[in-house]
Amino acid sequence: MDIDGTLTRKEAQYLTLVYRKQVEDCNRVTTTTVSRVLKVTPATVTESFQKLAKKNLVEYTPYYGIKLTERGTAEAQKLLRRHRLLETLFVKTMNYPPKKACNEASKIDYYCSEALANNICSTYNHPVVCPCKKEIYADYDCKHLKNDAVW
Ligand SMILES: [Zn+2]
Ligand SMILES: [Zn+2]
Repeated sequence: MDIDGTLTRKEAQYLTLVYRKQVEDCNRVTTTTVSRVLKVTPATVTESFQKLAKKNLVEYTPYYGIKLTERGTAEAQKLLRRHRLLETLFVKTMNYPPKKACNEASKIDYYCSEALANNICSTYNHPVVCPCKKEIYADYDCKHLKNDAVW
C-alpha cells in the first residue's frame, strides 16, 4: 500500500472477511459478526476496525458496523484474487480437493507476490472463477501486459 504503509497479515484477514460477508454475501457486517467468525472478543474486533478506518480502508460507525471504502474494496479484491489463484494452482497441479486447497492457500496467500499471482493467472489462461466457484477478480495488467514473458 502506498500512502499509509503496508497491511499487516491480520488486517488483510479482516479485510477479506468483511469483503466476503458484505459484498459477496450481501450482509451487514458488525463487530459481533466478525468476533463470532474469528473467535475473538468484540473489543479486539473494534480495535482492528479502528485501525482499518485509520488506513482509510473502511468506514466504521460504532453500534452500526463497518463498510469498506473504495480503497478497502480494491485491496480486498487483490487479496482474494491471490487466494483464489493459489487454490486454482493446487487443484490443477496436485489435484487437491477444493477445501484442502482453500486451507493451504489461506496460510500463504498474504505472502504471495503480485508477480507470482500473475504467473499462475496466465498459466491457467486467466481463470474467472476459483475451484469453489467464487469470482477471481480480473487484473488489467495481468491480461494486457503479457506477464507470461517475464519469467
Ligand atoms: Zn491474469
Ligand atoms: Zn475458492
